Amino acid sequence: MENVNIAEQIRVIVELQELDKEIYRLRSVIEGAPEKTKELDDGLENKKAALKAAEDELKKLQMEHKEKEGELGTKEGAIKKYQTQQNLVKTNKEYSSLEKEIASIKADNSLLEEAILKSFDTIEAAQKTISKEKQKFEEEKQKTGSQKNAIEVEKKAAEAEMANLNEKRTAFTEKIDKGILDKYERVLANRSGLAVVPVVNKTSCGGCNMNLPPQVVNEAMLKKDIVLCGNCARILYCE
Ligand SMILES: [Zn+2]
Repeated sequence: MENVNIAEQIRVIVELQELDKEIYRLRSVIEGAPEKTKELDDGLENKKAALKAAEDELKKLQMEHKEKEGELGTKEGAIKKYQTQQNLVKTNKEYSSLEKEIASIKADNSLLEEAILKSFDTIEAAQKTISKEKQKFEEEKQKTGSQKNAIEVEKKAAEAEMANLNEKRTAFTEKIDKGILDKYERVLANRSGLAVVPVVNKTSCGGCNMNLPPQVVNEAMLKKDIVLCGNCARILYCE
């Protein structure tokens, strides 16, 4: 690599790395936005489904309540019918047989009335809960709306900033030797946006924290060639 001042090249890629750190951060903001939005939508959708289930349950309770009331009405009609018949029967036996029927229905009805009162309370409680949940849902919907807005605004800002930084990046890359730039970009892609790291305390890699052989540290200090960490393959530099 004649004609290439490695020390100068390292100085430039260290700066480029700072720029790329920010570009990677912005990219994760932009790429993460749809998932964040979807999470919010899913959360709202789940709450909507829970509310719908509670409303369906309430409808079922109301129907059962109506059925019980209908049944009570029918049975009260039957009592009246038996009582009318009682006035017409000729024998005591017939009379007491009807009396028995009436008593049995009355016993049923008293249970039915109890059940009706109970289900009335249950329905009232369910209605209260649902109305509270509905209010909460509306609040949640508004909150989700503004959160989604904020995500969109943040994404737009990141996109604008990204375009700006990419322009700056081009100016940097023009100053870097093609071979070194290729190496840098390969490591950058493989190491999630961190390709150039300092040698820490003249002993370890600032990227993976592994100890470096003294020979590698020396080479990095000399700045005669691009030196890589034997463990994480990042480009090493000495400050
Ligand atoms: Zn390393």
